[in-house]
Amino acid sequence: MICPFCGFSNTKVIITREVAKFNEVKRRRECENCKRRFTTYERIERNLPTIIKKDATKENFSREKLITAIQKAAGKRRINNENIQEICKTVEITLEERDTAEVTSMEIGKITMRELKKYDKIAYIRFASEYRAYTELKEFVNEIEELLKDEQE
Ligand SMILES: [Zn+2]
Repeated sequence: MICPFCGFSNTKVIITREVAKFNEVKRRRECENCKRRFTTYERIERNLPTIIKKDATKENFSREKLITAIQKAAGKRRINNENIQEICKTVEITLEERDTAEVTSMEIGKITMRELKKYDKIAYIRFASEYRAYTELKEFVNEIEELLKDEQE
């Protein structure tokens, strides 16, 4: 870290403090040359891709929007908040691991569905009907039949 006062390149860290609320690390540093002190903040940069929607417009990934979509799919069945947060976390991690700049909303839908299926099968079907944009009704019926098979096992 270069000293903002004299431009010297060696500074030592005096205090390191985690700022949990902002997911930041705050560091108090001292320049080894001019002995002046300054503060730096370090934060993790999330590497979430831009979403390309069905109408080809782009938007930033938003956990709030994903939560709304899941809640809408769950309807009156109410998936508990903790589970929804878990689903969102998994979706975000999956997207980050792919390390691509852009992803289609349909792709996000697929990842979300896969997770939703673990918690609530009806919500999953509702979400699927909205996001998967089945090309044929038959495809959708197959999906439901698959689920019913799972249920019987
Ligand atoms: Zn300095």
